[in-house]
Amino acid sequence: MNEIFTTIGIDAAHRVPLHQSRCKNWHGHRYTITAEMSGELYTSGPQTGMVMDFSFLKELMMKHIDETCDHGSILTLSDYKFIGIAFESLEGDFLSWHTKVAAAISANGFWKGQTVFGKTYIIADVPTAENLAKHWFERMAPDVLKATNGRIISAIGTSRPSQPNGVSTGSSSRNYGFSKIESGF
Ligand SMILES: [Zn+2]
Repeated sequence: MNEIFTTIGIDAAHRVPLHQSRCKNWHGHRYTITAEMSGELYTSGPQTGMVMDFSFLKELMMKHIDETCDHGSILTLSDYKFIGIAFESLEGDFLSWHTKVAAAISANGFWKGQTVFGKTYIIADVPTAENLAKHWFERMAPDVLKATNGRIISAIGTSRPSQPNGVSTGSSSRNYGFSKIESGF
């Protein structure tokens, strides 16, 4: 088995609304996100000898993670307090905006836009490291599968948040086999 991995870093703010301690405050992390792929090597074409072109994997991470979340705020739709604050700067009525956000989340997994928080990214789940590893993994998996014709047989997404002083506060991984990816998306 051959494995490759690519890592990127982003800065993002979040909060865990039901947390009993400091994580319920709005705060920021440096997130280190790793995508790891395993599979057989290509035996022909421009990727001969590779599991997958590194630059393609990096491109996907930039598209699905950096462009949408870097220097942004990540919220859950169930965080009624902060979702209410996010709406304050927007036009229209709250209910129709909320309906639009919920529809985008069920269609694409996320809503993104500008709010009073600036760049804002809203997902269904509470944005813990565990849920973000799963979320980013799910955003990337269909593109990886399409580009590799399902040749990648397993993939791991890891999300590791750090405090501003660079000390890691923990890490979370999600590991999927190919058949699970295929049936899950
Ligand atoms: Zn945090």
